[in-house]
Amino acid sequence: MLSMNNLCKVFQSADIQTHALREVNLSVAEGDFLSVTGPSGSGKTTFLNIAGLLENHSSGEFLLDGENVGALKDSARSRLRNQKIGFIFQGFNLIPDLNLFDNVDVPLRYRGFNAKERKQRIHTQLERVGLASRMKHLPAQLSGGQQQRVAIARALATEPRFLLADEPTGNLDSEMAQGVMSLLEAINRQGTTIIMVTHDGELAQRASRSIQIKDGRVSEVPPLMKRIIA
Ligand code: ATP
Repeated sequence: MLSMNNLCKVFQSADIQTHALREVNLSVAEGDFLSVTGPSGSGKTTFLNIAGLLENHSSGEFLLDGENVGALKDSARSRLRNQKIGFIFQGFNLIPDLNLFDNVDVPLRYRGFNAKERKQRIHTQLERVGLASRMKHLPAQLSGGQQQRVAIARALATEPRFLLADEPTGNLDSEMAQGVMSLLEAINRQGTTIIMVTHDGELAQRASRSIQIKDGRVSEVPPLMKRIIA
């Protein structure tokens, strides 16, 4: 469970203050698939970075599974992030001269898993994203959609409870985007909580919940079905 209460984020550079997030009140429950939309500069990435413990909020409260994130030292915050959160990005961020096996291995080595455990986890995750037969290939030998699948396998290798996605389909054509979205839906059904920033309104509506950010203010968007019924 992720819970934000009156959370604000202010960036201060020189004499300019930017209120990137204003009084955010939001809970994300275990198993939710939350999409985040909003105009450019509205605060989406800031929201995701704070939710993913990459950035500190300025005021208000942020609880992650009951831990008061604002009270944690940097080292404890990093530990919590490594334990609970996986990230995927628009640009995939794979290491170009490592094959798929070694790309997925990166967070596992970092976390200190032994060789047997790492091999097992890499096989499991590459199998899950349909790329087990391509383990020795380099990222450049794959399509964009396949590269994003490898990034998903890498993000899930440490079995995080939350997967945060920043425009995961932004670099993909519509067919590949649909494929990646279907994979994310399957991963969510298997229990991972997902928060996804997207500019794609259609994909956003496929999430179980949607929020919109405008000028740093978060509002929940009623699901499409509810809007049709209402
Ligand atoms: P986009 O869709 O264009 O990526 P966004 O909705 O993700 O935009 P953010 O990147 O979260 O928006 O930015 C929100 C506001 O905070 C913007 O006004 C931006 O200029 C400002 N901002 C973001 N990061 C910083 C920073 N490190 N220092 C100062 N201002 C920042």
